[in-house]
Amino acid sequence: MMKQAIKDLLILQAEDLRIRDLKNRLMSIPKERAALVAEFEVVRKGLEKAKQNKLKVEQAAKQQAAATQAAQENLRALMIKSTSVKKINEYNAILAEIEAAKKNISNSETREIELMDEQDAAAQLLAKAERSYKATGRTVQAEVRELDSLKEAIVKEIAEKEKLSAEYAKNVQPKFLDPYRRMLASGKGSPVGTIRNGSCSNCNMKNSPQTVMEARNGELVNCDNCSFFLYDPEA
Ligand SMILES: [Zn+2]
Repeated sequence: MMKQAIKDLLILQAEDLRIRDLKNRLMSIPKERAALVAEFEVVRKGLEKAKQNKLKVEQAAKQQAAATQAAQENLRALMIKSTSVKKINEYNAILAEIEAAKKNISNSETREIELMDEQDAAAQLLAKAERSYKATGRTVQAEVRELDSLKEAIVKEIAEKEKLSAEYAKNVQPKFLDPYRRMLASGKGSPVGTIRNGSCSNCNMKNSPQTVMEARNGELVNCDNCSFFLYDPEA
């Protein structure tokens, strides 16, 4: 039959270990939240870039259209000028200029068509970035809300468990309670573990026959190696 002192410690430990787990979970929340916000930030920047790119391409298209227009005006001016040229070498020179102006217009129009394609591509990229922004925004918002409500639930449960822990601690003798609390505060393992085939459930090391025997007699013992409390569940 398990001693009441061991039972009382185990009842206390169940609450305390749960509190420790909850606190660990609570501590990881800000990092998870920050990761979500960072994920959204990447998408937000992508949208901003897509907007800028579309503006840039639109501006280039406008400039190109103006360049085409200027080249056409230049051609018209050359044509008019060509009618009043009398000397053959001047006429030849102006014909060459007219040829160059026509080529210039043609190049500028080709570039305008390319820029139309670029505008389409920029608009598609922007639409995609907008969809991604909205979708990620929704997901991130939902996940942040989930984390916030998880945090709330954890804080509430910790408060409840701490009340229970304080209550159950009253049943434990100080000679056990003080070392138990030190072991618990170490943050590792369970302060009260089991001894099975002489091995400690906390550190896995073998204990001396004397310690094994005491545990077998139903005593609460300290592990020879890690000094955590141990009990024999078969005692
Ligand atoms: Zn041990």
